[in-house]
Amino acid sequence: MKFPLVGGCLCGKVRYEISASPISTANCHCRSCQKSVGAPHAAILIVPASSFVVTGEVKEFVTIAASGNEMHRVFCPECGSGLFAKNSGFPDIRPVLATTLDDPSIYKPEKDIWVADAQPWDVMDPALPKFAGNPF
Ligand SMILES: [Zn+2]
Ligand SMILES: [Zn+2]
Repeated sequence: MKFPLVGGCLCGKVRYEISASPISTANCHCRSCQKSVGAPHAAILIVPASSFVVTGEVKEFVTIAASGNEMHRVFCPECGSGLFAKNSGFPDIRPVLATTLDDPSIYKPEKDIWVADAQPWDVMDPALPKFAGNPF
């Protein structure tokens, strides 16, 4: 993996850089991710907050997670692309949507989470560990 990892939104007004290795990765099948990303699951790269730098104006939409924590979903106000999140219970990490990387092919999912909410028509890698909810 070459650093920094770079990515951004569809219109290009918001860009980000990740200067450290991801802490973990997961495909999240929760209903909030399904609604938010418009796909059956979100491909999530979890990186240290200290390694993550954003440029450009963003907006946030806040929901309360199953844990009771505030989940801030951050998106581009111009094109609407979801980019990353901030969880009030885990201030030191940033979950980043791997599909917004300039080279998303570097993403290697380690597990499937919230599979209790997974759509029957989604296709999962049977080799990956599965968790009904959030194992973190
Ligand atoms: Zn944009
Ligand atoms: Zn989710």
